[in-house]
Amino acid sequence: MRETMYHSDAVWQQYGQGPDYCERAAVVLDLIPEWAQWILDVGCGSGDVLRALTAARQHLHAIGCDSSYVACIRAPQPVICAALPTLPFRDKSFDVVVCLEVLEHLDEEQYVAAVREVDRLARYSVVIGVPYRETLQAKYVLCASCLNSSHADGHVRSYSIGDLYNLLPAFQLCKIVLTGIKKKRQSKIGSWLTMRIGGRYYHPKLFCCPYCGSDSFLEQRPNVPPLLGKLTALLCHILTMYARPMPYWIIGLYERRRAY
Ligand SMILES: [Zn+2]
Repeated sequence: MRETMYHSDAVWQQYGQGPDYCERAAVVLDLIPEWAQWILDVGCGSGDVLRALTAARQHLHAIGCDSSYVACIRAPQPVICAALPTLPFRDKSFDVVVCLEVLEHLDEEQYVAAVREVDRLARYSVVIGVPYRETLQAKYVLCASCLNSSHADGHVRSYSIGDLYNLLPAFQLCKIVLTGIKKKRQSKIGSWLTMRIGGRYYHPKLFCCPYCGSDSFLEQRPNVPPLLGKLTALLCHILTMYARPMPYWIIGLYERRRAY
C-alpha cells in the first residue's frame, strides 16, 4: 500500500466503529470454523475484528498485521507491523487467514503477489472481504497542489460477486455474504458525468494525495465552469435517487481444494 492517510492516527480514531463494523465482525466470526485455532488478520487496522474474534472464542490464537504503525498501536496484541506481499510467517502457519479491505487498495503487481502470499500462509481457509460493487469514480478527489485525482480511500479495484470466484485458484469459494447497511450508490455514468464533464470531485474529511502528499483538495476543476459542475452533480443526484440500495461489503469464505 502506498504511503497514505492510513499512516495518520486520525483515521484510526474513527475506523472500525458503528453498527456496520459490528455486523461485519459478526459475519467473519460466523464464517470461521469452530475448530480453527490459529488465525491471521491481514490488514487488521485498529483491530475491531481481532477484538470480536478473541472475545467470542477464547481458545483462538489470533494475530494481526498491518502496514500502518499507528494502526498497530491501537490493535490488540499480538500484532505485527508488516504488509502484503511479504509477511514474516512460515508456510501454512494459520488455519484461517482473514483479509478485509486490503485487496481493493493494490495495483496489479501488488495484487498478484498478495494473493500468492495469502495462499502460502493459509492451511485450510481464507476469508476475503472487499467493498461490494463500489463506484470508484464517486470518491475521486482532486489534489489542489498537483491537480492529480485519486480515490479518497486509496481504492483501485471494485468487486462484484463474479470477481470473487477466481480470486484464489488453490481454494474453492464456499460461501458469500453481503453485509453492511444498504445504501443507494452513485451510478458509474452519473459519477463519470460529474467528474469528467462537470469537473466536480468528492469532498473528503481527511485527504493525503498519493502523488505529492498534499492534504488540500479542490471540489471543482479550475478550467470547468462551476455551473456545469452543479448541473452534472444535480443529474447524478437524480440518478442516485432511483438506484437500488446495496450493502457495502462482500465477504467470501474459501476452503483449500483437496488433492485427489
Ligand atoms: Zn497532489
